[in-house]
Amino acid sequence: MTEGKWDEKFVVFLKKYYWDSVLDLANNYPDQRSLEVEFPDLEIFDRELASELLINPDEVMPSANNALRQIDLPVEKTLDDTRVRFVRIPNKIPNRDLRSKHLLQFVAIDGMIRKATEVRPKVLEAAFQCMRCEHVTMIPQTEVKFVEPVGCENESCGRNGPFKIVINQSVFIDAQKLQIQESPENLKGGSQPQSLDVDIEDDLAGIVKPGDRVIINGVLRSHQRTTREGKSPFYDLVLHANSIEYMDLEFDELEISPEEEEEILAMSRDPEIYNKVIGSIAPSIYGYEDVKEALSLQLFSGVAKHLPDGSRVRGDIHMLFVGDPGVAKSQMLRYMVKLSPRGVFASGKSASSSGLTAAAVKDDLGDGRWTLEAGALVMADMGIAAVDEMDKMSTEDKSALHEAMEQQTISVAKAGILATLKSRCALLGAANPKYGRFDRYEGIAQQINMPPALISRFDMIFVMLDTPNEDMDSRIAKHILKSHYAGELSEQRKNMPSSIITQEQVDEHMEVIKPVIDADMLRKYVAYSRRNIFPVMEQEAREHLVKFYMDLRKMGDGKDAPVPVTARQLEALVRLAEASARLRLSNVATMDDAKRTTKIVYSCLRQVGVD
Ligand code: ADP
Ligand code: MG
Repeated sequence: MTEGKWDEKFVVFLKKYYWDSVLDLANNYPDQRSLEVEFPDLEIFDRELASELLINPDEVMPSANNALRQIDLPVEKTLDDTRVRFVRIPNKIPNRDLRSKHLLQFVAIDGMIRKATEVRPKVLEAAFQCMRCEHVTMIPQTEVKFVEPVGCENESCGRNGPFKIVINQSVFIDAQKLQIQESPENLKGGSQPQSLDVDIEDDLAGIVKPGDRVIINGVLRSHQRTTREGKSPFYDLVLHANSIEYMDLEFDELEISPEEEEEILAMSRDPEIYNKVIGSIAPSIYGYEDVKEALSLQLFSGVAKHLPDGSRVRGDIHMLFVGDPGVAKSQMLRYMVKLSPRGVFASGKSASSSGLTAAAVKDDLGDGRWTLEAGALVMADMGIAAVDEMDKMSTEDKSALHEAMEQQTISVAKAGILATLKSRCALLGAANPKYGRFDRYEGIAQQINMPPALISRFDMIFVMLDTPNEDMDSRIAKHILKSHYAGELSEQRKNMPSSIITQEQVDEHMEVIKPVIDADMLRKYVAYSRRNIFPVMEQEAREHLVKFYMDLRKMGDGKDAPVPVTARQLEALVRLAEASARLRLSNVATMDDAKRTTKIVYSCLRQVGVD
């Protein structure tokens, strides 16, 4: 232990601000080995020391740890390998803005854990025993390379080994590697999330799971890359974690100002709010009013319920588009990802090793260790996962989806990794028919490459057919050309400042494809509703849904019914009615909500062929 410049100061600080915590630590040591210190406290105590910690952590942090060893305790104990873990670090830097100037600084990075390796011992100090004279030489290890002794320390020997490592005299620490990725809600306009590797050690290892939303505070370091030709001039960034904070959900959602709240409440009182929300979903896509209405409800979602027997019923609404190619399925999925407060886009045939759910893989991050990697449905936790080409997903994903859609968890048991990850998201899937075109007189399960048990887990299935219809075709064509024209005008004005096109002209043409409520505002409206509104259904509404369900059961009785009607449909009806109430920020789901629900469900079942 080398003495640091700030040891004394930290002793005074800990005694004054954290005496109770120090005593707790002393009592629970060695089970507990870290002391959590809130950065703002240090700032109040000594502003200069606090800012020094941020810019020069490699010198200041050891002083804080030394202080724990130097402090006079009322009990006979020395707090040997304990450390101070600083939380609430103000130096919060978005993952994508990390630059070389941040190297060796104390920074805070927030995001979701994408991957986590197994926890494995890492040697801090290796004990080498000379096989000629049996003398043991201790060699401290570095971060990047395993260091071996140059010669035997024993002067009367002095030979160059050979040595063997004595495990029980070497010093080990638990170590784990993580990868943290920007959370979906912080991504602007569907850009690709950036990720950062994180090294964690000791009592921090083995705590977080893929999918967790955290802030990791630590020192940003770099490791030189090596290529086949040798060392490269490029360095990779690694965060050496000092502490991990769990983000509470309220706090990391979109921020809504009091003025915006006023606006949201005013919007909810507008009798036209339903049409306005529907008109704000994929305005560049013509038609599909019923699909867009269903998508609006999916955004708001029903309420998750915890039953007295301990089970949980999801509130999220799963939807599936099945149909011919070229009917704007993919476009709608992409739009919903942009609109949802937390949207993740994925394709069933994606090459990513984690697939849609989660997987245990061996990759670079773990240096050959097993790594648990979260897929789209975990990263979309508390949001919407839009999965295109669902029919092409892997067999593993298909089987994991059953659990993911109903229990909203994903269990992984492979290669010693046992974990249950959360996937509380709404699934919006799209699938193409096996034989190129959809035949509305055949069952869905026969035509798309998905097991019927999986299909039945969707609350709503929309069949989208590409049937030529002169009137409709010409309207779609006009709409597409209008929106392209608006785009062309705006590009020309942007790239050729001398052109005669005015901003007014651009705006006028943009009008056709402009959402009624702009995406940012709608996202806030949805977030506000999901955070504050928990509707309860009126008796009358409840009866309406039950009656509708009973009628469906009767109709769906036949052996050749295209989709079987099960109790799941009743749950789906309840969720949709709740979402309908949430859309206008009402805590009561009324008869109107129930009727809206049965109307949509009926229209979507009729397409499937139940009539
Ligand atoms: P899919 O995924 O169903 O095969 P896409 O989403 O890729 O189809 O759509 C193909 C193209 O056709 C897109 O550029 C889309 O904008 C356009 N398109 C299809 N239907 C419509 C429509 N109703 N309104 C506007 N554009 C449409
Ligand atoms: Mg497509």
